[in-house]
Amino acid sequence: MFPEFTLRFARLPERFYLRFDPVPVPEPRLVVFNRPLAEALGFDLDAFEAQGAARWFSGNRVPQGAEPLAQAYAGHQFGHFNPRLGDGRAVLLGEVTDREGHLRDIQLKGAGMTPFSRGADGRAPLGPVLREYLISEAMHRLGVPTTRALAAVTSGERLFRRVPEPGAVLTRVAASHLRVGTFQYFAARDDGEAVRMLADMAIERHYPGLLTAEQGEGERYLGLLEAVADRQASLVAKWMGLGFVHGVMNTDNCTISGETIDYGPCAFMEAYSPTMVFSSIDEQGRYAYRNQPWIAQWNLARFAETLISLIDDDQETAVAKATEVIKRYEPWYEAEWLAVMRAKLGLEREEEGDRELVEALLEAMQAGRADFTLTFRRLSEALEQDAPALFELFETGDGLAAWLPRWRERLARETADAGAIAARMNGVNPLYIPRNHQVERVIAAAVEHDDFGPFEALGEVLAEPFTEQPGREEYTQPAPSTERVFRTFCGT
Ligand code: AMP
Ligand code: MG
Repeated sequence: MFPEFTLRFARLPERFYLRFDPVPVPEPRLVVFNRPLAEALGFDLDAFEAQGAARWFSGNRVPQGAEPLAQAYAGHQFGHFNPRLGDGRAVLLGEVTDREGHLRDIQLKGAGMTPFSRGADGRAPLGPVLREYLISEAMHRLGVPTTRALAAVTSGERLFRRVPEPGAVLTRVAASHLRVGTFQYFAARDDGEAVRMLADMAIERHYPGLLTAEQGEGERYLGLLEAVADRQASLVAKWMGLGFVHGVMNTDNCTISGETIDYGPCAFMEAYSPTMVFSSIDEQGRYAYRNQPWIAQWNLARFAETLISLIDDDQETAVAKATEVIKRYEPWYEAEWLAVMRAKLGLEREEEGDRELVEALLEAMQAGRADFTLTFRRLSEALEQDAPALFELFETGDGLAAWLPRWRERLARETADAGAIAARMNGVNPLYIPRNHQVERVIAAAVEHDDFGPFEALGEVLAEPFTEQPGREEYTQPAPSTERVFRTFCGT
């Protein structure tokens, strides 16, 4: 059933990983399977059969050609460096080439205790597995670069967390699992050769354009830093435009590919609040919504540090060049963010005062505690006249009332007509996002009653986030005050 493996990471020298076969689980049962993704990856689905699939996706059977391993990596967690993290519960089976010709990592998360487990059980509870499945797939449909979810299998084990929970294994698909933390692991050991091998692999897999450019070696590695900074700027701008809070932007959760990874305590905001934090362990608010662009920059600076000796033989010159790139991230990010926000407001032209216009709306939303997603969605109803459904979202509508005429005056300088602008806006402002109370509800049904119907139903809605789906209005609704979610827990 599996496509052919093209092993890349496993061909690196042994210090990059520890060979490790998934620990079998007692009763694997396939509970979710992503057929379209499997097809895109080149799986042979004629041979598909749920029991067999459960054995593959639990790790009970290792597919032919795979060489399972746990990757080594380090990372700054909440600002503190840990020189040895690594895959404590994930196993990379290997890479496959998808239908578009891109290499994709296939990883089992929750595959058992590895030499990197540091005393933890190596397993993943069903709740967090379903959460990652649902939110990563929703992000993909929302147009955000992200790891994907191929399958979820329950293991038949019970795990002991805050309360006993069923165990599960998630099959995760990624452009690669190279992280800033992977580079840090080797840089912290002064293993320049390993850092160079990682950088070469990253260039080959994610930035092949750098190979053809006529330039010296140092320029190429500086180019890698620039390219990663550029992708992170664009990624975080997309998060910001959706009200998404990642929750654990540690350097081990910051990919070199520019994909979102590790959906632990993440969530989409409802009432707009720039200081919003969801993670129960983020006491200082380090990873609050408004800090995300600057945390990404901080992570990039840590990445830059690992590349210094590759950028220039002269350390001072290398540091100066790298610092320059890290500084330039700021205008790159600002430009990406403004482009995202302009599109949300239906603006195609670029004008001087656009930033202030966006900020004024955000201020009105904050004052009115307006739902982030629905405010932008309903703006398209207010292009020409005041829309009651929009005002309903605001506890106090004065700010909005003052803002709308400013926006309409600005829209008058756009060339498209109102119908075209509305259509464009509805193509970037989703109606359906994975709202936390809905996510919690469908997870509870699966975990407590073994009922995956609500999970499937929510997944179906989220597959078409920009298209109004009659009869599914409840999915658009913010949490009732009794169900508001202010804290989410790390899926460990
Ligand atoms: P995460 O919070 O998922 O990004 O994980 C941070 C680190 O903790 C990684 O090295 C994980 O492999 C490790 N880890 C998280 N949960 C577990 C677990 N249940 N068993 C072993 N290692 C874990
Ligand atoms: Mg992680």
